[in-house]
Amino acid sequence: MPEMPEVETVRRGLVPHLVGTTISFVDLRRPNLRFPFPDDFEKTLTGAKIERIDRRSKYLLFRLSNDQTWMSHLGMTGVWTIGGDGSGKHDHVYFEFNDGAKTATYTDHRRFGFMDIFPTSEESEQKWLSNLGPEPLTEDFTIEILNSNLQGKRSPIKSALLDQRVVSGLGNIYVSEILFRCKISPLKTAGEIASKTQRASVKVQRIFEHTNQVIAEAIMVGGSTISDFRGVSGDSDLGYFAQQFRVFNREGEVCVNESCEEIILRIVQSGRSTFYCPKCQR
Ligand SMILES: [Zn+2]
Repeated sequence: MPEMPEVETVRRGLVPHLVGTTISFVDLRRPNLRFPFPDDFEKTLTGAKIERIDRRSKYLLFRLSNDQTWMSHLGMTGVWTIGGDGSGKHDHVYFEFNDGAKTATYTDHRRFGFMDIFPTSEESEQKWLSNLGPEPLTEDFTIEILNSNLQGKRSPIKSALLDQRVVSGLGNIYVSEILFRCKISPLKTAGEIASKTQRASVKVQRIFEHTNQVIAEAIMVGGSTISDFRGVSGDSDLGYFAQQFRVFNREGEVCVNESCEEIILRIVQSGRSTFYCPKCQR
């Protein structure tokens, strides 16, 4: 499943091809993906110019000249490809642009992705976006806000960091990696990790710093996902972050920290695997 860094990689891949182009043709091959397409999907997009492509959490946001935002969520297996004729079995939406040469295809064989359209001025009221917490590497994400979002929570810190209202865009892989680097046990509650005052605890400071660091590294190498994900144009050089996992998927292996000979454990928290070193992470 593409996580936030992969979606950012897709966004960066699309920008040079699509920003500034006008959509001349939309071919919707089915009425729905995970959800139905909006009724006026083709009509709203045809003739609109793509002025910018933004991203919020795992949502790609195409800002159109008609003051609408066209949103694309990749679900589990959504892939954007520039070029091609969109004739593949799982090519569900096909686009042509005004220069006549460029095309784009959205392919999604499991169809957990979806698209929506809303007026750009109403973004803060959108159900998908209105409850998202601050995002790593942005001004809205600060040590103090992270501390206050974790305060008093009885859920394990691992689950709290996956809560998109606490911090948006952190997926399961990244949270295991962040807590390993912070040397914090995933079993501690969020309330134990945060300070009770406005001034953030040292542990929250560590989580804040490693969160930004891990996400920056993941974006730099183009995301992590091991399978089912290709960047724009099927670039096979993506996914190097997966080779840098220090703890994720390493159950039964010896901890990578020097002088630690402990075996990495896997536990299940809120239905998701957590990998951690019981000696280094306390
Ligand atoms: Zn260890």
